[in-house]
Amino acid sequence: MQTSKESAIRKSILARRRWCEARIAPDCAKLAVCLHERLPRSHGGSITDEDNVIAVCSACHSWIHAHPAQSYEKGFLERVGV
Ligand SMILES: [Zn+2]
Repeated sequence: MQTSKESAIRKSILARRRWCEARIAPDCAKLAVCLHERLPRSHGGSITDEDNVIAVCSACHSWIHAHPAQSYEKGFLERVGV
């Protein structure tokens, strides 16, 4: 569940990190629109931890989830419990 505090923090991170930091999708839009969590919340990661999030455009965000193996290699996803 997303609290309003969380959404305020997301907004402030995105306000400072405005450009896509993944730049991995062929159709990368370059402008970041959301935050990707390297370590998912369900595994103890936090969306409000700046080191755990990557500002991404929606194309790269989809790419990361569509290509998990490559994303682990590049550090866009963090392996959990292995
Ligand atoms: Zn991108």
